Amino acid sequence: MLFEPIRIGPVTAPNRFYQVPHASGMTNALPRVRAAFREAKAEGGWGVICTGACSVDPSSDDTPLPFATMWDGNDIRAHALMTEAVHRHGSLAGVELWHGGASVMNRTSRLPPLSPSGIPWMATHVGFMGNLRPKTMDKADIRAALEWQAEGARKARTAGFDVVYVYAGMGYLGYEFLLPEYNQRTDEYGGSIENRVRFVRELIDVTKDAVGKDCGVALRVSLEELRGRPGRNQPSEAHELVELLADLPDLFDVKMDSSPTDCSASRFTGEGSHEPIIDFVKTLTKKPVVGVGRFTSPDTMVSQIRRGVLDFIGGARPSIADPFLPAKIREGREAEIRECIGCNICISSWHDGVPVRCTQNPTAGEEWRRGWHPERVQRTSHPERVLIVGGGPAGLECALTLGRGGHEVTLADSSSSFGGRLTFEKTLPGLAAWNRVVDYRLGRLDEMSNVSLYLGSALGVDEIIELAPQRVVVATGARWTNMLYKSMEIPVGTLDDPQVFTPDDIASGRLPDGPTIVFDFDNYYMGGVLSEYLARSGNSVSYVTPAGQASAWTIMTNELPLVHRALAERRVPVTTLHLLKSFDGETATLAHVFTGEEMRVACRSVVIVGLRKPRNELYDSLSARADELAASGILSVDRIGDALAPGAIAHAVHSGHKLARELGLVLPSRPYRRDMPIVDLEDFDLRAAAE
Ligand code: ADP
Ligand code: SF4
Repeated sequence: MLFEPIRIGPVTAPNRFYQVPHASGMTNALPRVRAAFREAKAEGGWGVICTGACSVDPSSDDTPLPFATMWDGNDIRAHALMTEAVHRHGSLAGVELWHGGASVMNRTSRLPPLSPSGIPWMATHVGFMGNLRPKTMDKADIRAALEWQAEGARKARTAGFDVVYVYAGMGYLGYEFLLPEYNQRTDEYGGSIENRVRFVRELIDVTKDAVGKDCGVALRVSLEELRGRPGRNQPSEAHELVELLADLPDLFDVKMDSSPTDCSASRFTGEGSHEPIIDFVKTLTKKPVVGVGRFTSPDTMVSQIRRGVLDFIGGARPSIADPFLPAKIREGREAEIRECIGCNICISSWHDGVPVRCTQNPTAGEEWRRGWHPERVQRTSHPERVLIVGGGPAGLECALTLGRGGHEVTLADSSSSFGGRLTFEKTLPGLAAWNRVVDYRLGRLDEMSNVSLYLGSALGVDEIIELAPQRVVVATGARWTNMLYKSMEIPVGTLDDPQVFTPDDIASGRLPDGPTIVFDFDNYYMGGVLSEYLARSGNSVSYVTPAGQASAWTIMTNELPLVHRALAERRVPVTTLHLLKSFDGETATLAHVFTGEEMRVACRSVVIVGLRKPRNELYDSLSARADELAASGILSVDRIGDALAPGAIAHAVHSGHKLARELGLVLPSRPYRRDMPIVDLEDFDLRAAAE
């Protein structure tokens, strides 16, 4: 059923696997990186592969966030690399034409942002990010926006796209017309739902007029807010919208309204979470419907289709984590699917303004620049005996990739199970799915005859010399420290008291007595999730951080609002903008980071979630006995993962993969190929061209 062809207007998708538009951080400045990233998914069996947001006009400029453009001939040529790559594998290429309306700040183009009624999108957020407020569109602006869409569609067809989008979601221009709070117009574009839908209807009309004979025209629309508004003739305005537009687009691509609900992290949301919002769409239109929900299980996918929820199985994150997901299902290799863990490191890459990174798939974004294929590793003609010490994410990935490359691999870990940090972290609230990092790799390693796995093996230098491998890879991870900072800039040393704990203590079962302060300046998930964990076990916990928010960096992974909600639900008080100055076993002294004003808090224990340092004893001992190692035939000793530089699991996996790909190679002086924009300067001098 999943492999039936489905029509989208004049074009036909070869199967039901649909990579919906998603941010990849690969702008038109990285056309080859982007084409290879998308091609991997086409090769892996996704029937439709779409771009991320692709601006139709410089008045839609989201800098510094990455976005694609469809403005001129250079853009057409840049996109054509992708469409050609996708077509090579028989898949369709889709383009998400996009105008950001009031939610972009046009920082580079210096044009006024446009909106139906001059209301800024999410005032607090945008107000924080910039200070330009949108212009209210007059009729000429509306006509211009329709023409940009039509012209964008024509350019997209020239670039070779098969499916062209009209975008009315996630706070962007089309969506702003749909909501009465943003659209307060009194003309034919405002007021009733029929009027508010008019602009989107016209966008669809002009797109169909421009390219409808050759390309499928898709409508991407967010339905969360509209679903909550009672309709006049239907249960909700979302129903009314679909009813009004039912026959117009060739495909409905339906989704949630904001990044934290649309692309929600597994820590707080399960697979298929969009269904309660979008489940009705197919009852009101005969056109095919695509939706997402971090689908990785073939059973869930089939059920979505059988139950009449979706026609296409949409995937963004599942397609990043495993570009070959469809091929693995088709070939009955479900166990080999590299399931997305829902950590949202990928979306953090977009917020960082860089090409997409993925915890599960270290090759994402590296297909062209480093030549890494997501499934294939070149077999070595000189197999080597490699000993990897440490079976956390870095060691497991390194073993897997070396094993695929044909090396003789021994992976040893001192503990009683593989997984490293995840052995504990998977037990923390909401993090069970993260253990897919371990399960996927162990599953594959168990099948490999050239990889030997040893648990309960704490290795020192003597044991390693005795084993006499040709290469040693140290993947011994990192440990949390009890270091503190005197100010935001200057470290002050360690805080030593029997009642001071680190996450490693808690992982080993040494639990604090309450009341407990969790002092977090790591700022990613650990401080917040440990507070939840301790509070759940009955400890009276309060959370303190020098940052402005709890788990401040999780703004990048869409988790921050839900972290705050989880702490509030557990009755964990949050104190921001405070440093921990001292603790005497009974009282902790906190100081405001800007005023220095001190505050004393009674508590029995302090958990410091701060700096991690590499667990480097083994590496240092090996380095000290380098001559003996060389004499016993050991060619190299390398470190990977947290033992090299502590970071997120995504960094450790990438580090392990990189070392395995590069082992024994003579590397070029530059670490990777640099992509370049496609530049024909004539395209930039439009006035001269017109003359
Ligand atoms: P990373 O994230 O870099 O993979 P982890 O901390 O998750 O790092 O995993 C490191 C693993 O290394 C842990 O499972 C730990 O038990 C193991 N380990 C550390 N030192 C040794 C050693 N000397 N011998 C064997 N295993 C070790
Ligand atoms: Fe999934 Fe995490 Fe990879 Fe994103 S980074 S695709 S959430 S595993």
